Amino acid sequence: MVSRWISAAALLAALSPALAFAADAPLRVASLHTVTTELVQRVGGDRVEVTGLVKPDTDPHDYEPTPADLKVIAASDLIVAAGRGMESYLPKLKESAGTKAPLLKVGDALPAMKKEKGAKDDHDHAHGKDDPHWWNGLAEVQRAAGVVRDQLAKLRPADRELFAQNAAAYVAELEELRKWAAAEIAKIPRDQRRLATSHHAFAYFARDWGFTVLPVKGFSTTDEPGSRRVAEVIAQIKKLKVKTVFPENMENPKVLTEITRETGAAIGGKLYSDGLGSGDAGTYAGMYRSNVNAIVAALAPKP
Ligand SMILES: [Zn+2]
Repeated sequence: MVSRWISAAALLAALSPALAFAADAPLRVASLHTVTTELVQRVGGDRVEVTGLVKPDTDPHDYEPTPADLKVIAASDLIVAAGRGMESYLPKLKESAGTKAPLLKVGDALPAMKKEKGAKDDHDHAHGKDDPHWWNGLAEVQRAAGVVRDQLAKLRPADRELFAQNAAAYVAELEELRKWAAAEIAKIPRDQRRLATSHHAFAYFARDWGFTVLPVKGFSTTDEPGSRRVAEVIAQIKKLKVKTVFPENMENPKVLTEITRETGAAIGGKLYSDGLGSGDAGTYAGMYRSNVNAIVAALAPKP
């Protein structure tokens, strides 16, 4: 009896491989941002096979597709990106991979948040007028789960219900994260909520929690201590009376030392601005917690 069923299935597959594929095979998705990789994984569950082409703990702007990446893209049913100008290489990438698969730019489906006046981003995505760092806003990530759910359901209508359940569970988890973050950030007095980082990636975060983002920028791995640029940063820190500067990944330690010596400002814990890291910061919730912990540790009054 069993063997007859197997052979019937095998026969069906042989007669109509496309049909068998469409019904059973997981959707192949290529993702170009660590946060969208998690979103597709969580919402799609075992009905998707996601390849994250941009790896955790790397700068998404330094990403350059390898020939192997192009093959993954060519074989994918869906390509997902952060959007909002983060991936300026997208049209070229689609062309070189020779794919007609749909491209979902998640951020483009979310309400835009204008960049602050005068805010400049050191990255390639500096040219757009909207802030591209939507994943630093909890409401945006919750909405993004809905955007991913709808796109997956379009491609696999039979799994619509499952995608909806998975998205709802993810949104509920982020609601817990919001409650936790609210209790943590409540430890920082309102007038101490000033966030000095080296590039404008936290406008959404600042909006959520009543922070002012201070325009301290310019120090990076390529700057030398004593350079004019570093002197300008030091002048900014003094003028704005910044007490803590938060570095993002590997900033020049010599420059940081000079800044602390010249200004008396403390160096806060590392913040994740452009996506997931590794270890505890290897999930969205973990990354967010790590950022909140670093900020609270630096800015909350010591008991
Ligand atoms: Zn950025």
